[in-house]
Amino acid sequence: MTIPFESLRQALEEERSRLREELARLDARAPEGIGYHDHMADDATDVMDQATRVTLRRHLEARLREVEAALRRMEEGTYGICQDCGRPIEVARLKALPFAAFCLECQARRER
Ligand SMILES: [Zn+2]
Repeated sequence: MTIPFESLRQALEEERSRLREELARLDARAPEGIGYHDHMADDATDVMDQATRVTLRRHLEARLREVEAALRRMEEGTYGICQDCGRPIEVARLKALPFAAFCLECQARRER
């Protein structure tokens, strides 16, 4: 099965802009639309403490790095190859997680 590079690249680029927007919004004085109900937005901004912001920011930055690394691998021609064992990553896995850097087996091993 061949890798649908174009659609995956598009998905990665969209994810990258989305993450950058979220990070910018996190830095803004009044972050909006992070999943809170409209009329709760003001309260949510106030109760969203520093620790929550730091955790969220760390999560977004980590994901952004994964997405950027995947785009770089596309440029280099190593996209879709497991960064650990060097075997091709399952196409179904790439479609579900376009930034996946490891095959299922290696990912499972790393999480153990
Ligand atoms: Zn592997």
